[in-house]
Amino acid sequence: MVTQSPLWHTPIQYAKGVGPRRARLLEKLGIVTVEDALWFVPWRYDDRVEVHSIGNLLPGMKATIRGRVERCRINTTSRRRLVVVTIMVRDETGVIECVFFNQPYLENTFAAGVTVLLTGTVSPNPNAQSFFLMKAPEYEVLDIEDSLESALGRIVPIYHETHGLSSKQIRRIMQSIFEQYSPCLQEILPDTMREQLRFPTISEALPVLHAPDQHQSVPLLNQHVTPEHQRLAFEELLLLQLALAMKRHRQVTATPGIVFAKHQKLHEQLQSVLPFSLTSAQERVIREIFQDMAQSTCMNRLLQGDVGCGKTVVALHAMVMACGSGYQAALMAPTEVLSEQHYWSLKPLFEALNISCVLLKGGQAGGERAEILANLKSGEVQVVVGTHALLQPDVRFSKLGLVIVDEQHKFGVLQRAMLREKASWQPDVLVMTATPIPRTLAMTWYGDLDVSVIDEFPPGKKPVHTKLFEAKSRNRAHQILRKELEAGRQAYVVYPLVEPSEKVDLQAAMEAVEYLREQFAPFRVGLLHGRLPSREKQSVMSQFQKKEIDLLVATTVVEVGLDIHNATVMLIEHAERFGLAQLHQLRGRVGRGQHQGHCLLIHSVGRIPSYNQQMSLRIDRSPGARQSPGRVSASAEVARSTAKRRLGVFAQLDDGFALAEEDLNIRGPGQVLGVQQWGAIAFRVADLARDVDLLSKARRIAQELLQRDPNLSFPEHHALKETLVRKWGEKLALGSIG
Ligand code: ADP
Ligand code: MG
Repeated sequence: MVTQSPLWHTPIQYAKGVGPRRARLLEKLGIVTVEDALWFVPWRYDDRVEVHSIGNLLPGMKATIRGRVERCRINTTSRRRLVVVTIMVRDETGVIECVFFNQPYLENTFAAGVTVLLTGTVSPNPNAQSFFLMKAPEYEVLDIEDSLESALGRIVPIYHETHGLSSKQIRRIMQSIFEQYSPCLQEILPDTMREQLRFPTISEALPVLHAPDQHQSVPLLNQHVTPEHQRLAFEELLLLQLALAMKRHRQVTATPGIVFAKHQKLHEQLQSVLPFSLTSAQERVIREIFQDMAQSTCMNRLLQGDVGCGKTVVALHAMVMACGSGYQAALMAPTEVLSEQHYWSLKPLFEALNISCVLLKGGQAGGERAEILANLKSGEVQVVVGTHALLQPDVRFSKLGLVIVDEQHKFGVLQRAMLREKASWQPDVLVMTATPIPRTLAMTWYGDLDVSVIDEFPPGKKPVHTKLFEAKSRNRAHQILRKELEAGRQAYVVYPLVEPSEKVDLQAAMEAVEYLREQFAPFRVGLLHGRLPSREKQSVMSQFQKKEIDLLVATTVVEVGLDIHNATVMLIEHAERFGLAQLHQLRGRVGRGQHQGHCLLIHSVGRIPSYNQQMSLRIDRSPGARQSPGRVSASAEVARSTAKRRLGVFAQLDDGFALAEEDLNIRGPGQVLGVQQWGAIAFRVADLARDVDLLSKARRIAQELLQRDPNLSFPEHHALKETLVRKWGEKLALGSIG
């Protein structure tokens, strides 16, 4: 039976062989509709075209075997407390031992007598129960029906599983979905475009991915780079690029911006009060920003630049431009400590230029706050620096012309939009980030922004020395720390604060303070953490600034922006818990002055392979590997190995952009952008680490297409437009199109 309603409208529950219980399990994999199911492509393929006889196996060979389980036992190793399930498997030609780690439930799966299909690498068996051994092979339990048809003699798609739903079951469900629904598949790419790109139609592509015939190339399938994979990925990328381009086009045309004029005298004054001359990269991005600001369209620009490259002074120039034209400017920073630092460093410069500047923060006394708000509303005050506090509804401006958001990655897009709405017209917006964003992410997540990059450091900045220490050799790290303190320098010791265990970690930081006080007496040790009242935070910070504290123990509040030149050591505890970008931010806090900086990472993930060794490790890049919440194999072991990889890479790379690309590779966009933010994009097939070229192509084609047909009103674009509105209309607030 073929239904009339479109596939994206048909709940998976009604597909043959699914029902409510399985529908719930499928939902864990992100499959809610029949369309979702069809786009849920296998993450891997097993080449079972050839099944080997156990008697013909050789060590080193990657092989698929089929046999009966003779015996299954489970035990726990004493040393590492691994649960090991061991099975002996026999076919007509021989017997082989297979072991599985930390999957105790397999004891029930491999009951003696069942027939199994195993794919893995053959190694010699030290236990000599059999000649050979397979460690953690891919497995499948076969029933009679299977052994005759589906799983043998062909390329078998392997799906991400969830507890209660195996890859094999998913495969069966897919088969029946195909039989039932393939006639309803709708092609949305215009024929001419598709033919030019030599992509198959959707009806041609999906069967190849879900049920490849034996002539397909298994390596290409596994890398997700067959024309069929590319076809699906391209569709996703094209839709988003079209949506972003349309959004941008509207912003530019629908909302006229302010035409700022450069106040020559004010800017000359600014040059004369700055204690340094600008780098040429700073000069270039300031020019780009001035150009935007001078136009009648709204500025919407992202300023990227590594930690310490000097973004603040660029922001200062933009704010002076706004004030010089009679408008107000707001600078929003993600933490109080950082907004205070901005305020105190900018205030004297603004004062020298006769520009009034205030700090707005949580916890200001009622009277003080009321006065600030009144002055903002009347236009008395020209520049306000603050945190999210700026977003509160009672904060009103007289003539807000420029909004600058520092450390943009800490804020969501929504907050960006909220601040902008504070003006009765459209202020220009500049967002700044020290977390370099890989090009592909910038083109998608920030696709509606122009991008400026500061790719140069102020003179004299030296790369920080980075060293890894296992927790048991913490003393060696402490020696380096002590030497620096003795030389008159200052240091940070950072503890992670992860939400769920916040209390525990805070306790760890407090205990550390006691311990470090003893260890490093007579040096003075201070503590800064997120729960301190803001007055105390400020006082700890200023003590550190005045060198009344030598060693500052901190939770991640030092992550962004702090600028203390005498600090040369950044020691990070539980480094494995931090992401690459965070680590890089932290490292950027030291070595800012004339002295060599040291970044010391303490971790407990065991020996870390060298960078080059790491590069050869295989990573599962399929989107499902990172996104499906119910995925079984996302174990502690995987977390450990990605942490190892991350730390190894970090110790080796100094360039924020290179790190960002690696971060994307290792963790995937969800983690890089923040799960919530990424949740809004989450491609099903496209992979921003892999599909770089495809993305550029999609972007170019989207732009060309909109030039010819800005509202997608040509008949051949109807299907495309319908899908675009459905997928992105709401998320990107596109409103009505056409
Ligand atoms: P970030 O880009 O990380 O926000 P900051 O704006 O905090 O960097 O600048 C880092 C440090 O470099 C500050 O102490 C700042 O005064 C200094 N700085 C910025 N630009 C220059 C320059 N052109 N020459 C010398 N020092 C500079
Ligand atoms: Mg900064």
